[in-house]
Amino acid sequence: MYTKKVLLVKYGEISLRKGNRKHFEHVLLDAIRANLKPLNNEGLRVSREQGRFLVEDTSGDLDTFAVLPRIRHIFGIAGFCHAIKTTARDIDDLCEIGQKFFAAQINSAFERMDGSSAQTESGFEGMGGSLDVSPVKSGFAAAAAAAAVSFKVETKRSDKNYPLTSTEISAAIGEKILLTAEASAASEGVPPIKVDVRNPEITLWVEIRNDVYFYVNSAQARKSRNEQRGHMSYAARSRESGYNFSTCENESASVTRRLVHETGYNFSAYEKGEGGLPYGSSGKGVLLLSGGFDSPVAGYLAARRGVEIVAVYFHSPPFVSERAADKVKDICRQLAKYTGCVKLCVVPFTDTQVFLKENVPHEKLTILLKRAMLHIASRLAERERALCLVTGDAVGQVASQTVHSLASVESAAKFPVIRPLATMDKRDIMDMAEKIGTHEISARPYEDCCTVFVAKHPENKPNFGVIEKMEARFFRELSPKMDDALNNAEFFDILP
Ligand code: ATP
Ligand code: MG
Repeated sequence: MYTKKVLLVKYGEISLRKGNRKHFEHVLLDAIRANLKPLNNEGLRVSREQGRFLVEDTSGDLDTFAVLPRIRHIFGIAGFCHAIKTTARDIDDLCEIGQKFFAAQINSAFERMDGSSAQTESGFEGMGGSLDVSPVKSGFAAAAAAAAVSFKVETKRSDKNYPLTSTEISAAIGEKILLTAEASAASEGVPPIKVDVRNPEITLWVEIRNDVYFYVNSAQARKSRNEQRGHMSYAARSRESGYNFSTCENESASVTRRLVHETGYNFSAYEKGEGGLPYGSSGKGVLLLSGGFDSPVAGYLAARRGVEIVAVYFHSPPFVSERAADKVKDICRQLAKYTGCVKLCVVPFTDTQVFLKENVPHEKLTILLKRAMLHIASRLAERERALCLVTGDAVGQVASQTVHSLASVESAAKFPVIRPLATMDKRDIMDMAEKIGTHEISARPYEDCCTVFVAKHPENKPNFGVIEKMEARFFRELSPKMDDALNNAEFFDILP
C-alpha cells in the first residue's frame, strides 16, 4: 500500500466538444508529455483518467515544483489540482489518510497566512511526502479553529463495487475529521471547525476509483470554476448529494470569509491554468506581427483559442533598423513559451512601400500599406495552408483603425481577418501584454514600417469604394512586387 502526491490536470472547454474530444485530448496529452520530456525523469507518467489527466511519478511523490512550471502555460488546461493518490481501500485507512491530509492542508494554509512559512512556487505545502504529520499537526491550528472554518466531505465513487456508498464514505471521513478537530480544539481551548454541507469554506473531495484520490478546494476556487463552467449551483449540488451528518449554525463563517477575502488566502490546492483550447486544435492562422504592443497580445489570444500561429513581419530596411526585426524575433520567442514554437516569416517590404508612397496620395498611404500587408499575408496563408489572418487592430485606436478604415482594408484579405483586440481598451491590452511578458520587449524604442512616410493627417474616414478603385489602377504593377517580397522572405522557426 502506498500514498503519494500527484497532480490532477483538468481541462475545461474541450470536454464540452463531443465530436472532437478524443482528438483534443490527444493534442493536449502530447503537449504535456513533450513539455515534461526535458526533465529526463523516466518515472513520470501522464495518463488520461475520466475527463482529466493524472501526472504521477512511478517512483513516489511527484515533484510538483519541477513539473508545474513546465506545463503551467499549456493552452487548454483549465487548472491543476494537487492531490494524493492512495492504494488503500479499507475505510479505516481512508479515514486516517483523509483526516491527516485535510489537517495538513489547513495547517499549512494558515501557516502561509501567518507568514510563518514562505509561499512556495505552487502555493501548496503541507503534505509531507510520507504524510507523517506530527501529533500536534494532525490536529488543527488554533487559528483555523478560531476562524471556525466550515467544511464538508464529498465523495465520488466511480468504482461501484466499493462496499460503502459515497454518502457513507463522506460521513465516515467527515466524522473522523470532526472528532479529531474537537479533541484538539478542546485541548487548546478554542472552538472546533464545523461542518456545513450547504456553504462550506473547504471541501475535501474523495474519489474512489481503482485507487483513491483526495484533494481539497475552497469556496472561492469552486465558485470561480462553477461560474466558468456554468455548473449547477453549489447549493443545488449539495441538495442533490443529500449527505448530511451534522449541520451547524455557521456563526463565524463571516469571520473566515473576511479572512479569506482580506488576505487573498485560498484553502484550495487548485491553481488555474491558461484556459482556452489546445494549441493547433482550431486550425492555422497568419498573424501580422509588428513590434508594437498590440499584435503580440492578439497572437496570444488567437493561439489560446487553439489557432496555430505563423507570424509575418513586414520589414523595411534601411528605413527601419535590423534591431526592429530582432525585436519581433524576441516577441516570437516569448509567444513560443505558450505555443512551443512560432514560425516567423520576415517579408522585405521596402520596394512595395516605396512604390505605394510614389503612387498614392499622402493621406491614403497608411490604408493602402495595410491593404498590401493583407494581400501578402493572404498569399502566405495560401502557401502555409492557413485559413485566417490575425491582426492587432483595436477599433478607434488610431486613424487606420476606425470602422471606415477597417472596412477599406478588409477586401484585400482572402481569408477572414480575426481581430482579437477589436473591442479592448488600450489599457487592458497593455495589462495583458504585461501579463504574457511581451510588454517589456514591445517597449523597446525601434520604429516600425508604418511610422515611416506616414502622413501628418491620415484620412480617418476613407471611403472603401474610392480606396479599392485607386488600388485597382496600379494593382498590375503592385502585385508582382508583392510576390517578389514573399518570394524573398526569410523564415525562422523560433523556439522559447
Ligand atoms: P501594434 O501595436 O500591433 O503595432 P498598432 O496599434 O501600432 O498595432 P497599426 O500600426 O495600425 O497599429 O497596426 C495594426 C495592425 O497591423 C498591427 O496590430 C499588426 O497586426 C499589423 N501590422 C502593422 N505593422 C506591421 C508590420 N510591420 N508587420 C506585420 N504586421 C503589421
Ligand atoms: Mg504598430
